[in-house]
Amino acid sequence: LEDDEIETSDIQIFYKEEPECPNLSQNPSPTSPVSDVRLDDSLVPRNYQLELALPAKEGKNTIICAPTGCGKTFVSLLICEHHLKKFPQGQKGKVVFFAIQLPVYEQQKSVFSKYFEKLGYKVAGVSGATSEIVSVEEIVENNDIIILTPQILVNSLRKGTVPSLSVFTLMIFDECHNTGKHHPYNMIMFNYLDQKLGGSSDPLPQVIGLTASVGTGDAKNTTEAMEYICKLCASLDTSVIATVKDNLEELEEIVYKPQKFFRKVKLRTTDRFKCIISQLMRETESLAKKIFDELENVFQIQNRNFGTQKYEQWILSVQKTCILFQLPDKEEESRICKALYLYTSHLRKYNDALIINEHARMKDALDYLKDFFANVRAAGFDEIEQNLTWRFEEKLRELESVSMDPGNENPKLQDLSFILQEEYHLNPESRTILFVKTRALVDALKKWIEENSELSFLKPGILTGRGKTNQNTGMTLPAQKCALDAFRTDGDNKILIATSVADEGIDIAQCNLVILYEYVGNVIRMIQTRGRGRARGSKCFLLTSNADVIEKEKINIYKEKMMNDSILRLQTWNEAVFKEKVLQIQIQEKLIRDSQGKVERVPDKENKKLLCRKCKGFACYTADIRVVEDCHYTVVGDDFRKCYVSKLHPKPKSFGYFEKTAKIFCSRENCSHDWGIHVKYKTFEIPVIKIESFVVEDIATGAQKLYAKWRDFLLEKIPFDAAEMSK
Ligand SMILES: [Zn+2]
Repeated sequence: LEDDEIETSDIQIFYKEEPECPNLSQNPSPTSPVSDVRLDDSLVPRNYQLELALPAKEGKNTIICAPTGCGKTFVSLLICEHHLKKFPQGQKGKVVFFAIQLPVYEQQKSVFSKYFEKLGYKVAGVSGATSEIVSVEEIVENNDIIILTPQILVNSLRKGTVPSLSVFTLMIFDECHNTGKHHPYNMIMFNYLDQKLGGSSDPLPQVIGLTASVGTGDAKNTTEAMEYICKLCASLDTSVIATVKDNLEELEEIVYKPQKFFRKVKLRTTDRFKCIISQLMRETESLAKKIFDELENVFQIQNRNFGTQKYEQWILSVQKTCILFQLPDKEEESRICKALYLYTSHLRKYNDALIINEHARMKDALDYLKDFFANVRAAGFDEIEQNLTWRFEEKLRELESVSMDPGNENPKLQDLSFILQEEYHLNPESRTILFVKTRALVDALKKWIEENSELSFLKPGILTGRGKTNQNTGMTLPAQKCALDAFRTDGDNKILIATSVADEGIDIAQCNLVILYEYVGNVIRMIQTRGRGRARGSKCFLLTSNADVIEKEKINIYKEKMMNDSILRLQTWNEAVFKEKVLQIQIQEKLIRDSQGKVERVPDKENKKLLCRKCKGFACYTADIRVVEDCHYTVVGDDFRKCYVSKLHPKPKSFGYFEKTAKIFCSRENCSHDWGIHVKYKTFEIPVIKIESFVVEDIATGAQKLYAKWRDFLLEKIPFDAAEMSK
């Protein structure tokens, strides 16, 4: 299940006008990549856009804080143009624009190119995808405006290929509220601040930040919120926070806040499905306990309920403990670890099914389990799996009949159905986006709508995040684009069911109804709607059976107010006083940074064992691991080749120098744990492994550790050497 992080929720619906003076030589295309900007020559800035741009045009380091959809990109174009034109003959400015997400990067690159190439400026960009084949140094040298993903500049500063930030005259940070902790934005600003506070005489670039919300961190009152905002200003060396004040009415015409509705819905009064599955879970738990007496205390944690996210977290931590379980007899250890792995995996699936049952139909939850058991049967299917499958099948008939019983319908779905029917009755042209918590729920609700005769006219589409979750890989960027295009252009496709994608920089155009279905957390930023009439009627429903969810949403609304009040108060400060406050914070933070910086991360040169995370079988020694292109890990030697089997990849894919050809799995009987992939790299066929599939064991002490990411594992990095391979 996906992370359930709770942040400020920021739901805003805004509309896009058709251009006021359409350029007749170009048809405005509603399907073109969405952007804040219409690039007609006739483009006229709105008054509030000029207001926002003013302090930056005066050369001040500024955070521009204005709602999504008000055209901040256009404001940054105005600032950029003014900046480049102000240089006298013989001198030149150089602008760098940072975008965190790839879709935003692509969009900004094309917007800046179109706008500035007509004016005779050179625009280029480097992202993670192109950084291997181009020289960042040359791109920076030869262009006036450079669009970057921030990590590229962090790397270049570290390697010295870009010697100093003084090569730039203006830096623009999109989504600048991310400048904190170890985010690449902050790494860039550390470099800037070291230069500023270190007394270097080289000129530093002007710094502009763009954001819809500066945030308030953990602040509980306005004073704490002001502290938090001052700290962000210090990180970006900001002297002015620009918000719309003189032209608020004009802004409110453009950005419209939807009406919000909270709906508390009922749960099923009796739930036979839940009873049966809970019984199966209790049985599975006790089987797991019996495997090894000493492990019993691991299973004795209080206050956990089946079918909750808390249970999911608990079972994951149990799974980790079990993986690290050790015995002198290695065969026995392998047997026990594998058994525990199977039991905990089954418990997770049952837990998922209970969550589906709670929010969707019983039938969807049952289908989910039937799919899982069909896969179990098709793979290893050892004794334990057979036993667990048999226990499930014993209950199957009863589960089937319970799920078919109309008396067991989910009242929540009835409420959702009621809202949808009502809204489409009022406005048959409505476009809806429905947010749910998990990928499995997306599928379940899609099926429910399609099979519901009163709703099937909605023709649902789906949109899920690119991140990988336990059971499903995310949607790829082209697949996301495809789903969004269908939603934009196909009038029949009236509803889009989505998990949290808003943070990936995807623009969701054209909807006037947002339903948050038991959905807490993540910021929803980019919901757009076209046309004033539609925007005026937009609504947002929060549907939940949990009073806490409504409470949290109300806290979020309070936090937003606190943020706005804090900004207003900071804006009344004298500019010199504010600058001094910012400088003091910067000096403090640098002191802390410098004292922490002295603790170097020393790589551990000792040879260690890698074991399969599922069966604990030996895989390789760390001494045989080689690092390819800085971030991929392969294993040399023929011994390792015997430890895995490969299956051809259904969709071979190229990335950088690599071509992914196959997936690799543990070769141990009945294990087949996913270890990574097989790639073609230059002329070599090599395995590339992921550390999350292994347990690291210290040879001398036998101590075992788990790592989620290679960068957490301080092993000695031996670079891949072609000569060694051809031996
Ligand atoms: Zn294995």
